[in-house]
Amino acid sequence: MGASNARILIADDDPSILESLSGVLRDSGFDVAAGDGRDSLLRELGRTTPDLLLLDVIMPGADGVQVLQELKEDARWRDIPVLMVSSLSPDEMTEKTFGLGAADFIRKPFRPRELLARVHAQLRMHRALMQTRNALRFAEDELKRAREDAESRKKVVDILHEVTGDLASDEIYHLLARRVARALNLSRCSVILAKAGDKTGIVATAFDDPALRHIEIHLDRYPEITAALESGNPVLVEDLQSSPLHANIRTEWKTKGVQVPIRSVIVLPFSLNDGEQAGVFFLRRMATEPALTPEDVDFADTVVKAAVAAIVRAQLLENTRAENTRLEVLAHTDPLTQTLNRRALTVRLVSEMDRARRYNAIISMLMVDLDHFKKVNDSKGHLVGDDLLREIAHLLTDSVRSVDFVARYGGEEFVVVLPETNQVGAVKFAERLRERIEAMQFVQAHGGARVTASIGVASYPTSEVHTVDDLFARADEALYRAKAEGRNRVCQ
Ligand code: GH3
Ligand code: MG
Ligand code: MG
Repeated sequence: MGASNARILIADDDPSILESLSGVLRDSGFDVAAGDGRDSLLRELGRTTPDLLLLDVIMPGADGVQVLQELKEDARWRDIPVLMVSSLSPDEMTEKTFGLGAADFIRKPFRPRELLARVHAQLRMHRALMQTRNALRFAEDELKRAREDAESRKKVVDILHEVTGDLASDEIYHLLARRVARALNLSRCSVILAKAGDKTGIVATAFDDPALRHIEIHLDRYPEITAALESGNPVLVEDLQSSPLHANIRTEWKTKGVQVPIRSVIVLPFSLNDGEQAGVFFLRRMATEPALTPEDVDFADTVVKAAVAAIVRAQLLENTRAENTRLEVLAHTDPLTQTLNRRALTVRLVSEMDRARRYNAIISMLMVDLDHFKKVNDSKGHLVGDDLLREIAHLLTDSVRSVDFVARYGGEEFVVVLPETNQVGAVKFAERLRERIEAMQFVQAHGGARVTASIGVASYPTSEVHTVDDLFARADEALYRAKAEGRNRVCQ
């Protein structure tokens, strides 16, 4: 499903916000419907179910937070991701909608780019969730049907494997914690990363309480987690108030007056990459809910085993992606100097020129060629010549701003591109570079003469420069003149 056919419903009582939100989303190809309050929102929902809902926090006749609660309590709407729109800060919003299941928040006045990024992220997560959920539903049926079948576990693993393969492991933890929680009707389900012997664990994800994410917990407060990590087997605590494992900590709770709202706990250990990353799924039911049973342990264990297989695969994929990124960088980089290579320079310059044209911006180019470089090679050797080229590249990249870029154009010839810099500024900058190169101690350190450079400068737009090719041609001509006029100088 592409953005073009995703349907977004917006509820906001402010017509100008309604209009601008709709405009931005429609321009990006979304199918947008709008309502100005609770009633028109429900009317719209009755017509078709949207893929995403943008909900204003304050609307006439209803508080958006109440509407959110209403939707989340209704099985028909529960799964629609809801983005809350508000002038409150994200922290205040989290507090206000705590536990109600808002997917994300957008602060007014909104920035279109951020809005679109959040919308796309939610749609993507939602699709992934739906896929995983369908796969799990399918897996559950499969499991029921084949209870006696020794192969059933393997099948569940294979199915999950296929569907979750594209997600990062963090997202998979989240989806699975959520799914296990739903399947077993748990109010609490989290994933905690820790190894046997650790004093603390890190919460990788916590269903229904994202605020806990990445928090560190002290394992001496959780004897059931310690027991599961040490034995490598699932631990079931049907009732915290009578479990022998918790005898000591119960005394502590009593002295400190701690009220523990949890009745039952299942801890399922897992490990990835030969134990490099390990932890537990931590499932809990409240005192007001029925106790967890050995059958629940079996079910959760099956799902978690499948999850682990899926995570291992996701990590393999992540590694492949990282490797691809590395190869891409290599393809753009000059191996000797680590600056851009000639091809990458052309690609960047073409896109920089497009941008300059669209926004009436300016660009300058410096062509830097070392003077009598052959002599360095001849007298000191090629390896010293290579070192000097690396030093020069370093000096250049060190001197430019972050928007500028440096490329190795030829053997001992570099190009520096300065966006948003006019010819006067570029010539000044070139002069500074020329002085810095002249002041380098490199060749003297090798018992040779000073190294100097000649620099040609050209800028866009000028009467002679309209294209990338013009820019190269003018810079090259200016460089030629600098050489002809005696070297160690800047010409334009
Ligand atoms: P000028 O530019 O001042 O006219 O003199 P030059 O001696 O620098 O001129 P030219 O462009 O003719 O020579 C460039 C030399 O750079 C020739 C080549 O041996 C050397 N060179 C090119 N690439 C490399 C390299 O990667 N490493 C080393 N060490 N030398 C290189
Ligand atoms: Mg030269
Ligand atoms: Mg040259």
